[in-house]
Formats: sequence, C-alpha cells, structure tokens
Amino acid sequence: MTMKKTMAVCLALWIAAGMLAGCQPQEKPLTRTVMAMDTVMTLSLYDIRDEAVLDACTALIEKRESQWSRTPADSDIARANAADGQPTEVDASTVQLLESALAYTRLTDGAFDVTTAVLSDLWKQAQAADTLPETAQREEALAKTGADKVVLDNTTVTLTGGAQLDLGAIAKGQLADELSALLTRKGCHSALIDLGGNIYAHGTKTDGSPFTVGIAHPHKDNALAATVAVSDMAVVTSGSYERGYTVNGKRYSHILDPATGLPVENDLASVTILTASACTADVLSTACFVMGYDAARVFVDSTEGVEAVFVLTDGTVVMTDGVTVA
Ligand code: AMP
Ligand code: MG
Repeated sequence: MTMKKTMAVCLALWIAAGMLAGCQPQEKPLTRTVMAMDTVMTLSLYDIRDEAVLDACTALIEKRESQWSRTPADSDIARANAADGQPTEVDASTVQLLESALAYTRLTDGAFDVTTAVLSDLWKQAQAADTLPETAQREEALAKTGADKVVLDNTTVTLTGGAQLDLGAIAKGQLADELSALLTRKGCHSALIDLGGNIYAHGTKTDGSPFTVGIAHPHKDNALAATVAVSDMAVVTSGSYERGYTVNGKRYSHILDPATGLPVENDLASVTILTASACTADVLSTACFVMGYDAARVFVDSTEGVEAVFVLTDGTVVMTDGVTVA
C-alpha cells in the first residue's frame, strides 16, 4: 500500500472510530530539515503547526554552527585555533560549553577531549597520502593535545602548547538541549530533534505515550540493534565508521584515543547513551566508545540516570538494566 493510501485509510478509520492510536491526522508532524555542522538535522513537531517556531530553531542552529564549527573561519572555534596562543574573545555560550567540556574530560578520565583536532588533522593527512602516520608524527601531535592546554576566563579562550579545538563530540548534543529548551519556551511539548546520530525525544507523543527510537545496527544495513521507548530523553550513538579514515584500504574510526593518538579499535562497534541531557549523552557516547566495553560498562552502571546500548564487534547487543525496549 502506498503511503498516501495508508494515510487515507487511517483518516477514514479515524473519522469512523473517532480515535485510533497512531492514525490521528494530527500525529503527522510539522517537519524541517536543515544541513548544519556537517549533519542533516531534522526537527519534527507533533503538537503545534507553526513555521515560525521552526524558523526560530533554524536560526539557533545557524547561530551555533557559526560559533562552534571549525569552519567558517570567523567562528569562535576557528578564531581561537588561529590565534597562535593569544586570548580570543568568544561568545559566553562558547566559554560555558568549553567549561563543561573540561569538566567532562575530568569525569571520563581523559577519554573525552576537545583538543583532538591536531590528531584528526594528522589522520586526515594520512588518508590523503594513503600512508599511516609515523610514530614521531603521532607523538608530536599528541604533545599538542590535552584539555590542560585550554585556558578560559569569562570572555576569552586561550590555547597553549599548539592545541586546537574540535567540538565535534559535544556541540550537537548541546545544540539539541538548547533546541529542546527553545521548543518548551515556544509552547511545544511533543517533538523529535534528530541531529544525525543525536536524537532528542522532547516530551512525549501527543497521546502521552513515549516516542519509539530505533538504534541502527553498525554492521547491518537497514537493521536495528534495538528499539527503545523514550520521553524527555536523549539517545545518542557513537561509533559509526561513516566519518572515519581509510588508509591502505583499511577503515579507521573518526573517534581517536587521546591517550595514544590512534583511532579507537576495541571490542565495541557502537555505544548508544540514553540520558536526560543530550550534551551528556553526546560526550559519554564518544568517551565510552574510547573506553571499550568493560570500562564503559562500569562507568555507565555507576553513573546515576545514564543507560546504554552497546553493540560489540562480534554483533552482540548488550543493554544496561534501565533501558526500556519498545
Ligand atoms: P561523536 O560522533 O559524537 O562520537 O564525535 C566524534 C567527533 O569528535 C570526531 O569526528 C572528532 O571531531 C571528535 N573526536 C574524536 N575523538 C574524540 C575524543 N576522544 N574526544 C572528543 N572528541 C573527539
Ligand atoms: Mg559525541
């Protein structure tokens, strides 16, 4: 049956029965797709039909991209990276995000690190030259890595020791939280915020039931590792090799281990974190991927309000106790 026909049947049933879960015409969301931060972002609003709300969301997305991406050249991050160790004036939101990034580095014992940019550049060059980096090059890049090289005050950021910032593992999470807060202020209480691998279930479905979110299986095309039921909850996955590097015909992860400078290669194919803050979920999915299953499992089990779905490289799917399967 075509989509159009399905909807027509649903509509007819709805009119006939008065109410039929999932088929109410108002369940069809008002959507907007925006390309930003190198990601296809889709917002779906279920309880209001107001393009102006989507315009406000789009403006926020564009503002944060113009501040937090490494490109364009006048973003806060690009200017700090080009400042050659001098203090750079940045937006208060950028200082705040960097402050929480440094706290997350401490929380994850260095697994999450906003200064992996020099290492990513090294691996980009390795891909372009189709040659693995020399140990000496890697050590040189590692010497320019470390959250201790990021110095903040109220309005400026200073990068010491050749460090360069990359907010790729935290910016979309923070943006999802800000979009959720914006939607609440605009009176929207039922929406899905999909920023690539970062999903935020804002509120519930209009009938009060939780949203259903599918977690892609990293090894199987068009297959799901799990389907979870969530409301007011982020579902963020790290570990896809789509953004990785290919050198000598071998695919390497885009997530780098800040301790070694090497792309992560362990027993995990992907980690999905479920927690109320999308920023926390974004950070922890990346950090847990770096840690490997055993350490990540201990970390998640001992962190209040955080649940995870792990897909191991052998295809096994492991969920922590608090995950609600749909
Ligand atoms: P995500 O997709 O959220 O796991 O973030 C991965 C992106 O964050 C990469 O493309 C890099 O830009 C950056 N990144 C890579 N490794 C790390 C790391 N260990 N800590 C923080 N950011 C990282
Ligand atoms: Mg992340």
